[in-house]
Amino acid sequence: MSLLVDRLSLTREDGTELLAPLRLSLAPGDRLGLVGESGSGKSLLAQAIFGVLPKGVRQVGGALTAFGVRMDRLSKARDRIRGSRLAWVPQDPVQALNPFLKVRHHLTLLPGIHRGESESAALARLGSLLERLRLPTDRSFLAKYPHELSGGQRQRLLLAQALSCDPDLLVLDEPTTALDPTVQAEFLSLMLELQAERGLGFLWISHDLGVVAAVTTSLMVLYGGHLMEAGPTSRLIQSPRHPYTIRLLAAARREPATEAGFLAAPGERVEGCPFRPRCPVALGRCAQWRPWVGADQDGLRCEHPVVGPDLD
Ligand code: SF4
Repeated sequence: MSLLVDRLSLTREDGTELLAPLRLSLAPGDRLGLVGESGSGKSLLAQAIFGVLPKGVRQVGGALTAFGVRMDRLSKARDRIRGSRLAWVPQDPVQALNPFLKVRHHLTLLPGIHRGESESAALARLGSLLERLRLPTDRSFLAKYPHELSGGQRQRLLLAQALSCDPDLLVLDEPTTALDPTVQAEFLSLMLELQAERGLGFLWISHDLGVVAAVTTSLMVLYGGHLMEAGPTSRLIQSPRHPYTIRLLAAARREPATEAGFLAAPGERVEGCPFRPRCPVALGRCAQWRPWVGADQDGLRCEHPVVGPDLD
């Protein structure tokens, strides 16, 4: 297995839990989705994998390994893997792209570092990828700065940059938020094509279950830093059992959610299940809910799961 997140746990400096011990693995060819809303811990996981956790967040347990190298420890071996075999499309293109670098520098930075490729050689090799990403390849476009691009172009530039060294694994954090629906649909089918052609494995992180379901074969649903439900995408979409998965599915289908209660403030302590304040089927025993220790890629953590028609 190429990327292993082994019981990774993250907290704030004051000890507030942000991500409970979580396990997942990703190999070339895998299509894994991680869904949850803001505050679920999904983007922190991506940042931890790439060693760029925000200030005030720390890893308090577990290990991150890619291709046999610890990604949570500084080393030259880790630097060789990041951006080459394991690449990342961060959430916010405006933040992620360097405002002082032109398009061509963004595209040729990683090939120069990891392959020793000249700018012209890298651009020649990447020409067909840019065309498939519907990014112009003419000199005037390559000479533009990020602020001169549209939101969709910036998003696609980030993807082109991540793919510039032909990685085995790709982590995409909300990669379609800046795209309009037509471009988004093109982006999804392009990712599936690239995955099939290159044997690329990807971890797709999003709040939108509809988007993730369209491109993945396995799903993990996070809420409040805890894994709630995980398993094959087809099963979770056809027969979701966790009330939060059902709520995400309703949102993706633009259906009114059967949800009560309130959203706990970040870091606010909720007794038992973290989804309890919003859960429409909570029972008294949900206050005794215990976290899913070392939560992994198949299972369910709920005291009162919904029983679907094909499950009883
Ligand atoms: S454990 Fe209880 S509160 Fe939590 S999702 Fe399940 S039913 Fe709802």
